[in-house]
Amino acid sequence: MHEKCGVVGISLQDRDAARPLYYSLYALQHRGQEAAGIVTHDGFQQHSHVETGLVGDVFDEGDLGRLNGANGIGHVRYPTSGALDKSCAQPFSVSFKSGSLGLSHNGNLVNADEVRDELAALGHAFTSDGDTEVIAHDLARNLLEEDLVRAVRRTMGRIHGSYSLTIMHDDTVLGVRDPKGNRPLVIGELEDGYVLASESAAIDTLDGETIRDVEPGELVVLHPDGTGYDTYQLVDSDSTAHCFFEHVYFARPDSNIDGTLVYDARRELGRRLYEETGIDTDVVMPVPDSGRAFASGYAEAAQDAGADVNFAEGLMKNRYVGRTFIMPTQDERERAVRLKLNPIKTTVEGKRVTLIDDSIVRGTTSTQLVELMRDAGAEEVHVRIGAPPIVAPCYMGIDMATREELIAADKSVEEIREEIKADSLSYLSIDAIAATLETERDDLCLGCVTGEYPYDIDGEATDREVERPVIQSSLADD
Ligand code: SF4
Repeated sequence: MHEKCGVVGISLQDRDAARPLYYSLYALQHRGQEAAGIVTHDGFQQHSHVETGLVGDVFDEGDLGRLNGANGIGHVRYPTSGALDKSCAQPFSVSFKSGSLGLSHNGNLVNADEVRDELAALGHAFTSDGDTEVIAHDLARNLLEEDLVRAVRRTMGRIHGSYSLTIMHDDTVLGVRDPKGNRPLVIGELEDGYVLASESAAIDTLDGETIRDVEPGELVVLHPDGTGYDTYQLVDSDSTAHCFFEHVYFARPDSNIDGTLVYDARRELGRRLYEETGIDTDVVMPVPDSGRAFASGYAEAAQDAGADVNFAEGLMKNRYVGRTFIMPTQDERERAVRLKLNPIKTTVEGKRVTLIDDSIVRGTTSTQLVELMRDAGAEEVHVRIGAPPIVAPCYMGIDMATREELIAADKSVEEIREEIKADSLSYLSIDAIAATLETERDDLCLGCVTGEYPYDIDGEATDREVERPVIQSSLADD
């Protein structure tokens, strides 16, 4: 399960944006490892460098030197499946009659095909099958008739789904978050400019101060001279649909998203996991790295409740093994778990172990981990998961297994426990997630754990009245 993208946009007063963009993409590398790109504008023309690979491999000194201009946007990307299609790597950049455009997109439109067909019928020619190009064409068309802010608003009325965008129109950098705020976007201040980024950790990397989250439905326009920004609340929505998995898994623990530090959220989720499902064992152990904050919160809550339990790092990670998801076959994935994690026998031998992780997707890793624990001499292995069971796929920009591959899609918790051969298995409740994030359940996207989505998706149930923003043909009366 993987985040597909990270976005950034920067406007500076008196120096090129390429290097700060490069550093912020480094900070966002966990959001996409297959391609990276930067597009800048020097006041006269766009400069672009987009390649497949990790940020550190994509750019060299010469590339950064050629990316002239104090304004720019950047992107890291993880593709959905199959061979990487470079035409889908971003930022997407193009020149229209209405000026040059660059777009970086995190999320997924659920009506991209419909909008593409309409635009194609009007004569627009597409070079990729990505939804970012659809947004670019729609915006370019609207810019022929409207000013920048109204054109963005019109496009927001046309596209439906999940998007946090950084956009560059000529040398003006914009940030937009979809009306339900599904994916994160923050704005920050630098000594000599302003920055928009998927996560606040990118702003920290630049020694900047995070100002706040961009609001759902809000447009932020950075001044091209780096001296300020303007904001416009373009579309209102009765509820939000923040992706709760950002706090559970995707985002960096040191990022602050929608008012909550991710690390604090994970520890609190761990505490609640103990309160809801705690079991008396000798050792509480995280699955590295994702289960670490959950396990420390869980162990702390257990100790506060008087349990005689130790928190121990009993699984060591080989940091040089590629991520298991790169392995194409099930067999290779299984072997990869063995390559990646090795138990410390003395921590496990003869002990009753609680193993804590953030999620179970296919069940392959959990099965392997329980087996590893038993091979290392654990007397009992209890598995606790800091999120509810994943029962359905994500259509909002997360690369997740298909419904057929998800172990919880058609199995009960007891059936999953049997399959992974744990002594016990428990998940965290949805209510605990909402309470931890101090929000209403209705303001979270819970599609992958309920099968009911906050957007209108063909063939799927919706968890709310579908509120499509009205398409604005004119803002003259506003
Ligand atoms: S379906 Fe799940 S992973 Fe996808 S946006 Fe919603 S909460 Fe996040």
